Amino acid sequence: MTANKKLLILPGDGIGPEVMAEVERVIGWLSDHERATFDVGNGLVGGAAYDAHGTPLTDETMAEAMNADAVLLGAVGGPKWDGLAFEVKPERGLLRLRKEMELFANLRPAVVFDALADASTLKLDVVQGLDIMIVRELTGGIYFGEPRGVEDIGGGERRGVNTQVYTTPEIHRVLRVAFELARKRSNRVCSVEKANVMESGLLWREEAQKIHDAEFADVELSHMYADNCAMQLVRDPRQFDVIVTDNLFGDMLSDEAAMLTGSLGMLPSASLGAADESGRRKALYEPVHGSAPDITGQGAANPLACILSFSLCLRYSFAMAADADMIDKAVENVLAGGMRTADIMQDGKARVSTSVMGEAVTTEMEKLLG
Ligand code: NAD
Repeated sequence: MTANKKLLILPGDGIGPEVMAEVERVIGWLSDHERATFDVGNGLVGGAAYDAHGTPLTDETMAEAMNADAVLLGAVGGPKWDGLAFEVKPERGLLRLRKEMELFANLRPAVVFDALADASTLKLDVVQGLDIMIVRELTGGIYFGEPRGVEDIGGGERRGVNTQVYTTPEIHRVLRVAFELARKRSNRVCSVEKANVMESGLLWREEAQKIHDAEFADVELSHMYADNCAMQLVRDPRQFDVIVTDNLFGDMLSDEAAMLTGSLGMLPSASLGAADESGRRKALYEPVHGSAPDITGQGAANPLACILSFSLCLRYSFAMAADADMIDKAVENVLAGGMRTADIMQDGKARVSTSVMGEAVTTEMEKLLG
């Protein structure tokens, strides 16, 4: 049995607790089968934390997150808290976690499961078997660069400014994450910018090449302009393995890639921080979807995005690739067997609830174990 692993679970709001309950079922299964023991802490975030403590994330919960090997988050927000002041809105809890944990690399896998391939808006033969990873720089670039703002320039006219800015350390650290990931996948990285028209893009390209040549010469590196990447993602997405890009381009390209797969309820994500001396990175894992207030409390939420986020956690925070593979395979098999939550329902398939879907995953893991 592997050593204890410190996990902080923050289910959050809306369907967050419903989908997280299914992750806890998987954690329980791993523990019952002596695959791993987790030291699991639970906390509040978002509207749930506001209701209990008047803040979307208490200092105590923040400290626990800093102390954990990994944080698993469900979702935050909902109409109940829409009228709150900006600084106590549920989303501020999530933003505080990202900021204080310095999570600079956002990982968004786009995987098309065979059973759901026809849910994509693209042709089956374009997306079948798709398995790519987008790494987006999350804490720099034009969303944070100075100067920024809107100013009056006289004559009733105004000027809006945002600044795209990257330093070499910011580029290096996210490139290193991408290269390390590629080594665990198909060993190919495509670095994406606009070096043809942006100085910061040229710097990004040069530095990506430098880090590659100095530290990751065994990984195949290509460079692509962001506009071409947007086209290639819909023309032939399977040409990619790992795509690494800045905050702005990553925001768009990761959403574009996500939609190749067809369903929000299936999309996991990870956000990683800097590695300490032992190689351990601060990490937050969460489904891409929100708190889905329209289906909360109905047992209709798809728990697979959250379960797949936990699989990323096993793979990247705990080096438990075999167990992550088992979860991914179990999800694939459950879908192939015809079970569907409402969001991914197709003709002739069996519509099941959140908990039946979660239970089906652990039942399948049992079978895979043999
Ligand atoms: P949403 O992702 O919550 O829902 C969009 C649509 O997808 C809804 O119809 C919902 O029912 C459906 N859906 C989402 N996840 C699903 C799942 N697992 N299974 C089945 N169906 C699912 O986005 P929204 O409606 O724009 O936002 C609702 C709330 O969530 C808002 O308060 C928003 O601020 C918040 N939000 C939070 C996060 C986060 O916590 N990271 C992300 C996005 C939105």
